[in-house]
Amino acid sequence: MEPDYSRQIALKEIGPAGQALLERSRVLVVGAGGLGSPVLQYLAGAGVGSLTVIDHDTLDPSNLHRQPLYGLEDAGRTKVELAAAALAKLNPRVRVEARAERLGPANAVDLIADHDLTIDCSDNFRTKFLVNDAAVLAARPAVFASVYQYEGQLQVYKPDPGHACLRCLWPEATADGVVGNCAEAGVLGPVPGALGAMQAMLALEILLGIGTQLRGEVLLFDFQRFSTLSLRAPRHHACDAPRCCRIGAIEADDPDLEVRLASLDEAVARGWAIVDVRSAEEVAARPAAGIHCPVAQILSGEAPLARDVAYVLICATGKRSLAAARALRGRGYSVRSLAGGLARLERDR
Ligand SMILES: [Zn+2]
Repeated sequence: MEPDYSRQIALKEIGPAGQALLERSRVLVVGAGGLGSPVLQYLAGAGVGSLTVIDHDTLDPSNLHRQPLYGLEDAGRTKVELAAAALAKLNPRVRVEARAERLGPANAVDLIADHDLTIDCSDNFRTKFLVNDAAVLAARPAVFASVYQYEGQLQVYKPDPGHACLRCLWPEATADGVVGNCAEAGVLGPVPGALGAMQAMLALEILLGIGTQLRGEVLLFDFQRFSTLSLRAPRHHACDAPRCCRIGAIEADDPDLEVRLASLDEAVARGWAIVDVRSAEEVAARPAAGIHCPVAQILSGEAPLARDVAYVLICATGKRSLAAARALRGRGYSVRSLAGGLARLERDR
């Protein structure tokens, strides 16, 4: 059976010409989780011609309440492979390129330059700022969303005068681990679901050239009070469109910052001291091993660590430990982060 777009073609702003435009469009979706699920479903349903989805993660049963693109039987498989299969069912005419890797400094600019539009559906600030910087350098539009517990935030960058980028508002990238991500902070599924649906809406409007598409503002949502706040987000006064004055080149990442281990005993065998960066409540609920030193203490520079000791940092899923390890490396410590955290050790056991 052929896909039928008649209900969107019926809109006078779209029509057959708009539909043809969507079919010629190439969109990059960074992250196939709680935001990525609705984004991918709506864009595939709308008949966007090419979708590239990049995500290195595998599906965990705890993802499903906010990632209805997947099913429980899929746990353990890579999300991009699952997403490609689900989208092929939804709309076989859409070309889906599945990239089971991380968006990083080495591939971000080329990938973003190769698409008409990028949608940031990641769950960490480092990736959001990387998407921002690469979108500015490649002079391509990007749609950002982030979620924290009952709150969400939406912003658009376009390479033309008037559009602020993330660095216009926050010159220094927010450090991951300061604000929890979904894995550690908790979230109800419809919050990323609603934000993702709005990202898909903004993406379609940008591709079709309709609507005003958040021009120079950040929209904040509070889903407990059902209130919305629109903040003016002006470009930095010294920015010269399309370039932001605060973006030079993209910094390369440390290649061995993350390590995979079969067990915590392996860390000890390698001569690494274990530092558990989880909260006191998490440690009490599920004791691990090593020195306990919450991530906030590390980021604020108050951790009682020595520069002549080699450390491996651990947390629940490997996100806070990675942020803390990055901060400590920058201060000259010998440190690495356990990839995937305690969750992966448990899964691989
Ligand atoms: Zn800027």
